[in-house]
Amino acid sequence: MALVQRKLWKQASLEEIKDFIIEEYKKQSENPCPVDKMRVFTDSTRRTSCGECVICREGILQLNVITEAISQGKGRDGDIEILTEISDDLILGSCCDYGKEVGKITKRIIEESKEEFEKHIKRKRCDALVCKKFFSYYVAPEKCSGCNKCVEECPQKAVAGSKDLIHIIDSSICDRCGKCTAVCKAAAIQKAGAIIPKLPLEPVAVGSFKIEPQNGGGLMAGRRRRRRS
Ligand code: SF4
Ligand code: SF4
Ligand code: SF4
Repeated sequence: MALVQRKLWKQASLEEIKDFIIEEYKKQSENPCPVDKMRVFTDSTRRTSCGECVICREGILQLNVITEAISQGKGRDGDIEILTEISDDLILGSCCDYGKEVGKITKRIIEESKEEFEKHIKRKRCDALVCKKFFSYYVAPEKCSGCNKCVEECPQKAVAGSKDLIHIIDSSICDRCGKCTAVCKAAAIQKAGAIIPKLPLEPVAVGSFKIEPQNGGGLMAGRRRRRRS
């Protein structure tokens, strides 16, 4: 397999290589998180590198290892600089256009999304709620119909509840596989970042949980600010 790919990439035209790599990149076009986008892109392109030159073989692997760590909440100061440096090395030092084109794309992702990378590394936040380490699933009590489908679907047995009760996800057990979201017709299973809404502590009858007004609700809700005369 590796030998076939080596012959292919070295013999391939720049256009063929570009088409292949852009196609790989496009598979992530709907992914709103640049860190995860780069993680998946480098995982696929490292597998199709022929591996003949060290910078392409090890460089793409390192890009993948570092972005994986960042997405797992293990990002460190200096990671962005290392990712940029490896991308530059790929552009300059790869034996053929395959490594160079991968480097150009990874460098562009970092340049365009530096702020998002920093949030993942320094604040342990993924604003797009894509990186599993940075979000949890919860059941929105006002939406849950108590159908019990999520309990049947969950491989981790992380959902508590039975028919006609508002269900609850135990995020210490949940591995964020997302399978329950596919069966929840009520779209009650949602993602939360650092702030988790108020939820029942245990399964209660559907319709019995009242959501308290947030700040800004109550007496002043909907009122206009009084103007100075
Ligand atoms: S840059 Fe080197 S390792 Fe990468 S595909 Fe080309 S020849 Fe193979
Ligand atoms: S995301 Fe997966 S593990 Fe978590 S509650 Fe849903 S089905 Fe269970
Ligand atoms: S699948 Fe959705 S609506 Fe049904 S019990 Fe689970 S969270 Fe509630």
